[in-house]
Amino acid sequence: MRLFFWILFIAASCTFIDDPHFEVDVRLKISVDEFYRQAEIRGVNVSRELIVRVGDINSVGLFKPRKGLPVIIISRSFVESSTDSLALQYIVFHEMGHFMGRKHNTDFSIMNPNKYAGEYRSDFEKRVQLIDELFK
Ligand SMILES: [Zn+2]
Repeated sequence: MRLFFWILFIAASCTFIDDPHFEVDVRLKISVDEFYRQAEIRGVNVSRELIVRVGDINSVGLFKPRKGLPVIIISRSFVESSTDSLALQYIVFHEMGHFMGRKHNTDFSIMNPNKYAGEYRSDFEKRVQLIDELFK
């Protein structure tokens, strides 16, 4: 009888507790954590209903706005060859921008594809401005 109630309890937990489906490849965790930290600093709440993984794609990053659970894929060859954590961060932030609903633009922005990756990495002030712009 007791076992029955336990099973009932577990079944109820699975059904009613709405856990966020947040899944991040361990190689991308530092960049993704940094994204959420920067969002939090600026008082922006970003959903964690998301999968961020490494995969074989033809670009450095890709955002798939799937109906169920959106997916960000970061290029395996980039992740495995690059030791530049700020370059990786830039790519992750760009794809997270898409996740927040942002589209490409031609401005001084992380959403201007690849245009400001250099400044982002080398210039601290510009990096802060670009992150501000991402969350504005
Ligand atoms: Zn893009």
